[in-house]
Amino acid sequence: MSGPHYNIPVFIPGLACPFYCVFCNQQSITGKCKAPDEIAVKHIIDTHLSTLTPGEGTIEVAFFGGSFTALDMEVQNRYLEMVKPYLEKGAVSGIRISTRPDFITHGILINLRSRGVVAIELGAQSLDDEVLEKSGRGHTVQQVETAAGLIYDHGFELGLQMMTGLPGDNEQKSLNTAQKIIELNAATTRIYPTLVIRNTPLEKLYARGAYFPQSLEEAVNLCAKLYELFQANAVKVLRTGLHPSEGMLNGESLVAGPFHPAFGELVMSKIWQNRLISKTRDISHYPLTIYVHPSDLNAAIGHKASNRKILEKEFGKIYFKSDITIKKGALYVDHAR
Ligand code: SF4
Repeated sequence: MSGPHYNIPVFIPGLACPFYCVFCNQQSITGKCKAPDEIAVKHIIDTHLSTLTPGEGTIEVAFFGGSFTALDMEVQNRYLEMVKPYLEKGAVSGIRISTRPDFITHGILINLRSRGVVAIELGAQSLDDEVLEKSGRGHTVQQVETAAGLIYDHGFELGLQMMTGLPGDNEQKSLNTAQKIIELNAATTRIYPTLVIRNTPLEKLYARGAYFPQSLEEAVNLCAKLYELFQANAVKVLRTGLHPSEGMLNGESLVAGPFHPAFGELVMSKIWQNRLISKTRDISHYPLTIYVHPSDLNAAIGHKASNRKILEKEFGKIYFKSDITIKKGALYVDHAR
């Protein structure tokens, strides 16, 4: 179905997760402690559906937050069965799950397929063994590659999530990870800069000076590069930066790291800043008018008009105008007002 895509998110925080990645405290990140029961899941789905227009785009239920396929098969099936009535009446078109690469087998995939799962997002986080090891992930690059291949071969939409700024990580390793994600045929990705969350092993490393988080500027600049690389290779970036929970916003769960409530906007602003600077580099006339597609106008002007301010220093007055005939992501510069 064409049109917009809606995910109805159902968070299953850390349920049955036998691991403790250095950066993770699921309860702090999701702001929820209890896994939802059937009544809660139904309530979440009904509430979201009441705000959506049926037939306008794709609606999927997304089990996020934990490692779905690490749950007992019986528990996985119980959750999937909760969505079945909505699938049967066509209110939602499929189910998405997120999980770990080492909990994917042929048998698991057959079961998911038969119960309406259409997309699987793997938390790869890095495709560098040293980074995975230092981050306490408990799986290897080889396991990500094997799981991604199985998911792709079984015909699911494959998502591979990555993080930046992990222990032992650097910009080149993140770019290499992105390149491997592309080569593994991912259709989607999410990019999460590492944050130091309270009550995690990373907090202890940070406190004793053994871990240094990325600055906000470093994280934004790197995510802008990764976004452009993914976009050039037809991998859809579903998100950059964590959803800000209440604990993040009031500082209760966040210790350090490149957090910003509008992180994704900062990344889009940076991408447009790079495009605008490169396009106006050789121009000496002014004033300038920049034409972009209407959906790009805010990002082109920049977060808090940051790009307008940068260009105005160079060119005096700058006008931004939207034009439906311009391709998304492209821009046209004119010297007239
Ligand atoms: S596998 Fe996922 S849920 Fe479990 S500790 Fe790691 S990041 Fe957290």
